[in-house]
Amino acid sequence: MQNSDKLSFTTRAIHAGNAADTATGAIEPAVYMANSFVLPYDASQMNWSASEGNIYTRNGGVNQGMLETKIADLEGGEDCVVLASGVAALSALFFTKLKKGDHVIFSTVTYIATYRIFHELWTEKWGIETSIVDCTDVENIRNAIRPNTRLIHFETPGNPTLCICDIEAIVKLAHEHGILVSADNTFSSPYNTRPLEYGVDFVVESLTKYINGHGDSMGGAIIGPHDDMERIRYEAQVNIGGCISPFNAWLIQRGCTTFPLRMQVHNDNALAIAQWLERQPCVSFVAYPGLERHKGHELAVKQMEHGFGGVLCFGLHGEHDLYNRVITHLRIFTSAVSLGNAASLIVFLGEDDERMYLYPEEFHNGFYRVAIGIEDKNDLIHDLRQAFNAEGLETVD
Ligand SMILES: *Cc1c(COP(=O)(O)O)cnc(C)c1O
Repeated sequence: MQNSDKLSFTTRAIHAGNAADTATGAIEPAVYMANSFVLPYDASQMNWSASEGNIYTRNGGVNQGMLETKIADLEGGEDCVVLASGVAALSALFFTKLKKGDHVIFSTVTYIATYRIFHELWTEKWGIETSIVDCTDVENIRNAIRPNTRLIHFETPGNPTLCICDIEAIVKLAHEHGILVSADNTFSSPYNTRPLEYGVDFVVESLTKYINGHGDSMGGAIIGPHDDMERIRYEAQVNIGGCISPFNAWLIQRGCTTFPLRMQVHNDNALAIAQWLERQPCVSFVAYPGLERHKGHELAVKQMEHGFGGVLCFGLHGEHDLYNRVITHLRIFTSAVSLGNAASLIVFLGEDDERMYLYPEEFHNGFYRVAIGIEDKNDLIHDLRQAFNAEGLETVD
């Protein structure tokens, strides 16, 4: 594909990294399900940890390479490494960029594995110092900086509370102090936000979610400068080994061609449903950055190009088991974790969740995290309405 940077995002989502199969002329890429590749005549000089050229699938492969080209293009990065899951991508980045004695500042609101890595595992095992900081206020970050601070990591919006961090302000502060910044862009997706445009050093993305979009495979990506990506391949992909299956890479690449179209529907549906929920007397709060009363709304308008994503949280006036009972009445929503699926998913996070103390007050009695799918939004609203009504909860239009 030529002049990639002149084409629109939607066109690039279809064409970047895709090419007709050279062996057969098939107009779509083949799946190369091979774990190893034929070696050259004299292989004795080869570097078995190299990722260039096809050696062994843990070093890289055909389908992985095509997906890397596509994701790097969509996030606007120089290069990309795709791995088996979003968490494999997070671990690979942290493993490659951090060493014993380094200090990391990370947001109070992150994916659970990020919290586990920085709050428990790496601090105990590998001597990484960490501070858990409410990154929605850049002053909190400034106050947490130490001479050995190496990395600031956050999500925007944050999973699960949908809090919004000021990417530009964080980058400015970090770079004044020679600190690296990594942003987990899974909730926003590159359709809505491209953190590299704000100067973030590394973007991490769970491809399992919006980019794949069909709820049928897992993958993760790190996007950033070529030299760093090469280092991540050499250190983490080859030697830790979180490589993605070529088939999953192919599925994600296939899913990605419709990603901008799907994402627009996720954005539109979630906003409509958040606005409907906000009007319901039985609903105690709604967290969605597209709502004007959301604390981060103004920043979200600035940082999110086409919409505010497909995830929202809300609470009910009622006791613990009401949340469970309402779920049993839902016909379209499935009670399951994850997000970015065409189908809508809902999960009840109870009041005794270990991280509840880190979330704003209104979350403390328990809440739903809802991943709005791309079904008809009126059907989704009707499904929520009838589930509320089945428990005697009043609804309005
Ligand atoms: C799901 C998720 C991850 C982890 O991705 P997996 O593909 O499930 O490993 C990381 N960050 C965020 C924000 C997520 O929502």
